[in-house]
Amino acid sequence: MSETFNTKALVLNRHIYCEYDSRVTVYTVDFGKIDLLARGTQKPGSKLAAHIEPLSLVNLMIVKGKNTDYIGSSVISDAYAGIKGDLTKLPAAGSALFAFNRLVRHEEKDEELFNLLLEFLDILDQKPRQADWLLASWSLKFLSALGYQPELYSCLSCKKRLEPDNNYFSVMRGGIFCADCSRRELNLETIDQNSIKMLRLVLSHSLADLTTIKAEPQTFDRVNGLIKNLLHFYIKD
Ligand SMILES: [Zn+2]
Repeated sequence: MSETFNTKALVLNRHIYCEYDSRVTVYTVDFGKIDLLARGTQKPGSKLAAHIEPLSLVNLMIVKGKNTDYIGSSVISDAYAGIKGDLTKLPAAGSALFAFNRLVRHEEKDEELFNLLLEFLDILDQKPRQADWLLASWSLKFLSALGYQPELYSCLSCKKRLEPDNNYFSVMRGGIFCADCSRRELNLETIDQNSIKMLRLVLSHSLADLTTIKAEPQTFDRVNGLIKNLLHFYIKD
């Protein structure tokens, strides 16, 4: 008898492997990110195929194989129909899954990362609006959990507490410079006090609380853009 394990998993990615099979990347609560073989999923009428679509929360039975571990069975626990059926939400979920798959290493179990991603997907699935702000909030929390938290209170160079005005954000350096120190830095963008406050709020509040925050549309746009740049900087690295 082969050894088997049951675990909760989120399907991150799937691609065709050989003629009839798929290779699936999942994030499991027990083993972190792993690749698994899904047999027969390219054959017509495969039940397993429907249960291992990316963006599905599933209960997996994993079978230890000689060379590769494979999926013995899969039962869907959440298909996130509210996201998959909404073209304003699906790109946000796709961006998060892509970033997660790209930046999280194989076989490193981290329940905080997993729960943060599931919380993001649950809210996105239910809440009708502001997918961009939710994605940005998740992205900054995700980067921080990975150890890339930007410094938002002191100048990165002179370490003085930031004044309300004349501050500059650096995506490359992961933080803010005061006006004096900014002269010696490259690739800076100005950052206003409201945007700094919003970034600080993201790090001190839950995703659910952040969905109720009110601000000017321009402030949301600026902060969303800034966090998007920050995420892309680490993804490309
Ligand atoms: Zn300074």
